[in-house]
Amino acid sequence: MKASQFFISTLKEAPAEAELVSHRLMLRAGLIRRVASGLYTWMPMGLRVLRKVEAVVREEMNRAGSIELLMPVVQPAELWQESGRWSFYGKELLRIRDRHERDFCMGPTCEEVITDVVRNEVRSYKQLPLNFYHIQTKFRDEVRPRFGVMRAREFVMKDAYSFHTDVASLQQTYQVMYDAYCRIFTRLGLDFRPVAADTGSIGGTGSHEFQVLADSGEDVIAYSDGSDYAANVELAPTVRLTGERSAATQALTKVATPKVRSIDDLVAFLSVPVTQTLKSLVVEGEDDDVVLLLLRGDHQLNEIKAEKLAGVKAPLTMASAAAIAKAFNQAHGGSLGPVGFEGKVYADFATEQGADWVIGANEDDYHYTGFNFGRDAAEPEFVDLRSVVEGDPSPCGTGHLHLVRGIEVGHVFQLGKKYSQALNATVLDQNGKNVVLEMGCYGIGITRVIAAAIEQNNDERGIVWSDAMAPFNVVIVPMNYKKSATVKAAADELYAQLMAAGIDVLLDDRDERSGVLLHDSELIGIPHRIVIGDRGLKEGMVEYQNRTATEAMPLPLNAVVAEITAALK
Ligand code: ATP
Ligand code: MG
Repeated sequence: MKASQFFISTLKEAPAEAELVSHRLMLRAGLIRRVASGLYTWMPMGLRVLRKVEAVVREEMNRAGSIELLMPVVQPAELWQESGRWSFYGKELLRIRDRHERDFCMGPTCEEVITDVVRNEVRSYKQLPLNFYHIQTKFRDEVRPRFGVMRAREFVMKDAYSFHTDVASLQQTYQVMYDAYCRIFTRLGLDFRPVAADTGSIGGTGSHEFQVLADSGEDVIAYSDGSDYAANVELAPTVRLTGERSAATQALTKVATPKVRSIDDLVAFLSVPVTQTLKSLVVEGEDDDVVLLLLRGDHQLNEIKAEKLAGVKAPLTMASAAAIAKAFNQAHGGSLGPVGFEGKVYADFATEQGADWVIGANEDDYHYTGFNFGRDAAEPEFVDLRSVVEGDPSPCGTGHLHLVRGIEVGHVFQLGKKYSQALNATVLDQNGKNVVLEMGCYGIGITRVIAAAIEQNNDERGIVWSDAMAPFNVVIVPMNYKKSATVKAAADELYAQLMAAGIDVLLDDRDERSGVLLHDSELIGIPHRIVIGDRGLKEGMVEYQNRTATEAMPLPLNAVVAEITAALK
């Protein structure tokens, strides 16, 4: 491609609202342009990257035995009503109505449509297993679209769905998809980690997320330093302590704690270690009641764990001030505790062995010291209630946990019969009996992968692409292309040779200062750059610079094609 026949639209400054480096760089390098909140145009340069990611994904999906089809973006309400998600999916589902007043939605995912295809097309166990995929635009009316294409409303996803007569077959395909995902993200040059994940609202049994490691990621991953164990913090269990509880040494004593509202205030006011304090959180119960959750002062509630507890309302909802006042003797948040509370109390495992706690007294501006379970209030039910923290023992039994942030780029799920049951997708088995299908689903956020790759690979000059994702693999930057006939001739000739060798090359023949061309090639992040100038050409030399190198090195002009070919292998 010659730049004069292409469209390069780099910017000196990114718009102020772009918070993440990937978002800033995608705008500055002219990969995307915002149309409206969460809606972007993929500019020519960005679209080349998108197509490269799609190509790798398509190749590996085909290799893994998945079959490509293409399902529509607009889906009829009837299918979503059959699965029950027309009401369950909530506001992320964009509903639309046609001229005949019929309801449709913009597909956020395709379980319903593919299950409909399979129930209509597949009759016999002999046709299974089957695995279908497509690469298609999705729409989710996200509450907070942000970070550019990282969390957009319209985005491109590769989604695959597999169908089986039994769980063993599902598990086999699940493993094949897991391995294909590892190959895809490795080929794209990403530093990623597959982690055990919560199955969330989609339900089902087994699930892994593929997380690209990046400090700006919205997810937190816990991994063991002693094994392969890795899980999303949403899911990672804490280990219940063994051994005896410490004996109580203090009497329950009410102390005045004026204006103390938070654990920080409490620790400062009483000069006690935070690990000696208990914090009380009150959530709505299932039957118009409230449930008290107790955690060590320095620990954080894990909402996903909490909402799975018996008697706790899902989704987890903090109790209103009025409900709290009613259940806790008119006390307000900041000095609550279990003493005298009549309802259900869950306490985190980490509090099971402690004694002499500092805790709210259910009276504004008062706390207790010397609180002990069993003696001063009934034994609560001890459960796993908090998120794991750095240094916790690994639940796998080997090593300790460390926390890193990640960006979820892919997700594999064993759905089981959730959708096939609801939509009555069955086949005849060996005995001529109808069996409901087992199902798996496998997604990759194609457009999010691009943002995640940039988040992970950039420097002060711009984007650093892997060869697999780069919009162009090589850029030729001629010095004085318009004025020097020698430079023009050498650049055109090298361009023709690289094209003939099947290499994706950009000849930057724009009539711009060479500083601008060099700057743009680095901002856009093209991995290999050849600079051609009159001075070097006298000796038959050009300059080669890898995007990751700090300096250029001289290279004979006639060695360039071989050198680049080798580098791209
Ligand atoms: P998240 O927790 O980030 O909202 P999700 O669990 O809703 O993701 P899935 O339903 O598993 O995501 O979708 C499959 C993939 O699609 C995700 O792994 C992610 O890469 C991508 N994806 C999901 N939502 C968005 C979005 N709003 N913008 C861009 N990509 C997205
Ligand atoms: Mg989501």
